[in-house]
Amino acid sequence: MNAPEKVSKLSAPGMVPEIVEMAIPADERVWVPQAPGVYFRPLMLNTVTGQWWNLLRVTKTGVVSRHRHPSMVCGLVLRGRWRYLEHDWVAEEGGFVYEPPGEVHTLVVDEPTKEMITFFNVNGAMIYVDEQGKTVGYEDVHSKIDMCRAHYAKNGLGAEYVDQFVR
Ligand code: FE
Repeated sequence: MNAPEKVSKLSAPGMVPEIVEMAIPADERVWVPQAPGVYFRPLMLNTVTGQWWNLLRVTKTGVVSRHRHPSMVCGLVLRGRWRYLEHDWVAEEGGFVYEPPGEVHTLVVDEPTKEMITFFNVNGAMIYVDEQGKTVGYEDVHSKIDMCRAHYAKNGLGAEYVDQFVR
């Protein structure tokens, strides 16, 4: 991180610092488990706008989740491939995905040997639904922060490790 004196005099006083990270971490402990075979790596957690930027990593095959969002989501596939049951396209390595608000989709990973890593920018919430579309759970930026704190407190990084990604 830049020391304060390195910040340009043209910048606003008191502005929050930038975040510069290797997105795929060298330390495995940075990955936060969210379901069996499913992990996320926080990059930016915005408690004012309710947005978060993270990597999703999936090491299992099959359905990862069925969900909808109240706002748009953008994704960029870094490794592997995945698809939604509701669509006939496959998100390939290097591919960009835009998810419109309100759409229910079911993320599936088909290939057993290859991990999938995708960068997602989520705005507002992940609303998990069952096969009838009934809400069965949700995540927002605050629940993501709580999951990080709990995981990092247990694995030696320390609960406060997540603070560097919170704005
Ligand atoms: Fe989605």
